[in-house]
Amino acid sequence: IKSAQAQKVYQIGTDVTYPPFEFANKNNKYVGIDIDIMKAIAKEEGFKVQIKPVGFNAAVQSMEAGQLDGVIAGMMMTPERKAKFDFSQPYFDTGIIMAVGKNSKIKNFEQLRGKKVALKTGTAAALYANSIKKKYGFKTVTFDDSNNMYQDVVTKNSVACFEDKPVMQYAINQGTPLKIPVKPANKSTYGFAVRKGHNQELLAKFDAGLKKIKANGTYDKIKNKYLGTKH
Ligand code: GLN
Repeated sequence: IKSAQAQKVYQIGTDVTYPPFEFANKNNKYVGIDIDIMKAIAKEEGFKVQIKPVGFNAAVQSMEAGQLDGVIAGMMMTPERKAKFDFSQPYFDTGIIMAVGKNSKIKNFEQLRGKKVALKTGTAAALYANSIKKKYGFKTVTFDDSNNMYQDVVTKNSVACFEDKPVMQYAINQGTPLKIPVKPANKSTYGFAVRKGHNQELLAKFDAGLKKIKANGTYDKIKNKYLGTKH
């Protein structure tokens, strides 16, 4: 008999700073495309979420350990992750790029030989960079969040970093003095993830809600709010 039982509050892990998908705004409120989508879907489907900005790698690890119900964090649906997690329908297109200093002469991976590259722990971009590291002979240094990774290139400690194109482009548009000299590799999509075989009802509600917010214009409104109407 579940009379006065409190409604479950799903614990959703996310990154600390990954604009435009999740970040603290100037009122120190946690916002972004992922956060707004999750909240709009929860409202539409009548469930409750608590957003936990713990960092990308920590969020994924905690979900794997069963300490979080799901992760929304600009998380690319990679084949490796599909073996461990169940993903929602895709909600955003992405691809991996290399970024270099604004005035850098580096245009391709060959020019990375013998140099240092900044990566973010646990990301698809880091996995990609590590897969070509031997071939192009570069060294790596890792960071837990994107901004510290960008700053390592800005301060010229590293010559390049690897990131998702929509995220890097947004940071550049906001004034981060980097540029993207290459075309995106490993084009993919972002999805909301849960542990494989767990929280299937949450995943189903997410997909149902995503369909509704796409149909009623909320999804476009959220995208436009952060990216403008041209993207
Ligand atoms: N999009 C990248 C990935 O899927 C990184 C996500 C993140 O850093 N929040 O690995």
